[in-house]
Amino acid sequence: MSWDVAIERARSSIMPKTYDALARYGYLQDLRREVRKAKEEVVKNLDFYIEELRKSVERIGGRFYLAGDGREAADAAAKIVGRGKVVVMGKNNVANETGLHRRLEEEGNEVWETDLGAFLVQLSGEEGSHIIAPAIHLTRERAAEFLKEKLGIEAPPDPVAIAQRVREFLREKFMKADVGITGANALAADTGAVVLVENEANIRITSAFPPVHIVYDGVEKIVPTLIHALYVANVQAAYAGLYPPTYINVSAGPSSTADIEMHRVSPAQGPKEYHVVLVDNGRRAAARDPALWEALLCIRCGRCHLHCPVYRALGRDFGKPPYTGPMGVMWTAVTRGVEEAGPHALKCVHAGNCKEVCPMEIDIPQIIQEVKRRYLKAHQPS
Ligand code: SF4
Repeated sequence: MSWDVAIERARSSIMPKTYDALARYGYLQDLRREVRKAKEEVVKNLDFYIEELRKSVERIGGRFYLAGDGREAADAAAKIVGRGKVVVMGKNNVANETGLHRRLEEEGNEVWETDLGAFLVQLSGEEGSHIIAPAIHLTRERAAEFLKEKLGIEAPPDPVAIAQRVREFLREKFMKADVGITGANALAADTGAVVLVENEANIRITSAFPPVHIVYDGVEKIVPTLIHALYVANVQAAYAGLYPPTYINVSAGPSSTADIEMHRVSPAQGPKEYHVVLVDNGRRAAARDPALWEALLCIRCGRCHLHCPVYRALGRDFGKPPYTGPMGVMWTAVTRGVEEAGPHALKCVHAGNCKEVCPMEIDIPQIIQEVKRRYLKAHQPS
């Protein structure tokens, strides 16, 4: 079974759902415009909003860390986690960007991806190929093979059966987990809250069950208010073809209760620690860049991938995992520089579909064109 089969199965499943949601829920268009405005405001004043978020996280009893690069971010998270722990993780592109999973394992921790697609990619030992559907390249047949090969779990090549077997396996890991690490769809500067949207409930369990919750993501996920963060969650879900989302999670600090004499104590049933680790890794420089700044508006819906003829032909070879497809070329430039993004930009045929379908109206072809121009200029024969 090839990439072509896997991607066409995914396209025919997701694309009609996106169009249906957009036709049915007209307000989504207003929300996406609000999100673009809010994210532009933050990108133009990034240092101010990072500081606002820091103050808010500390006010609600959390701890805030700002890491300059991927290594610093992974070190900060590894220090919080410690050694010999069981760690459950929600799907997280920044964890992949910064090598967090491997870094935690080096410290003797048992680390499990809990999103089904990310879990299958972990078993396969390969890299993910799509920001919201990392196992999009795996057919059901390959997924069943990996379960058998890596964990000795028998399952027929049927998505329902595979999901059920993984659910049974991960239940035990959730029960034992010392630390849950999630990403963020958005972080609200006014309240220090993180908003996460999902359908599997693995993020809900990861963020609420273990005694420690670490939010690990990039500084561009900050939005001014909690209301904006909820808008992001709704727009992201709709453009990812998953609207209404089954769950929208809000976490704002350690769990607590005030049920005895209205005296607030912490923890209650959920985490006793709430940490927010944010990484720069090229983002603040991109925010000041006349072309790359717009890439920071991306809400990771993954829609541009499915409409891109080059991604459909090349899969994860277009861009550098975890950032593949049209958004991936921009994001490879943000996080790894033009030298690494350039060869991928050269593969772009400028069909323009990505710009047309992007909810943030990012001029992706223009940014890719600029990456090409800078790369070719640096490689001109003297
Ligand atoms: S660039 Fe636009 S379409 Fe592509 S993932 Fe980001 S928000 Fe979605």
